[in-house]
Amino acid sequence: MTTMTSTSGDTHSVAERRLRQADQRYTPGRRAIISLLLSAGHPVSIEDIASQLPDLPRSSAYRHLTDLESAGLVRRVAAGDEFTRFELAEDLTGHHHHLVCLNCGKVTDVILPSGFEQQAARAIARLADEAGFQAHSHRLDVLGLCAACR
Ligand SMILES: [Zn+2]
Ligand SMILES: [Zn+2]
Repeated sequence: MTTMTSTSGDTHSVAERRLRQADQRYTPGRRAIISLLLSAGHPVSIEDIASQLPDLPRSSAYRHLTDLESAGLVRRVAAGDEFTRFELAEDLTGHHHHLVCLNCGKVTDVILPSGFEQQAARAIARLADEAGFQAHSHRLDVLGLCAACR
């Protein structure tokens, strides 16, 4: 499960600051989406957002998500086009990975053992070095079937 390393107050002030740096305002619509992502605790779909924020038109929700993504506040979790999920950027929540259900699209956050992460970091540093590549982070999504779908 995701460990939320920041409080909601922190996250809102970070959001306001990053948007301001991008010459954008932290509008009530954007704030509502950040609050929803904070309280959801797992990646959410556009449908989840629409059902939890019924007053926010879907097109606006999508535009807000794109703006928040550009400002480095939201990350898209790819689970196949129809199953795209959104979550807070990793620097706001902590490093984690995903279990992605290929049938229903459910995405679960998981944290791998620190020994694995250290080994992965070393292996990635080595292969990035060989390719002259500057590695910033890595993603690992595990694809399969959730407990309900298998
Ligand atoms: Zn499933
Ligand atoms: Zn990792």
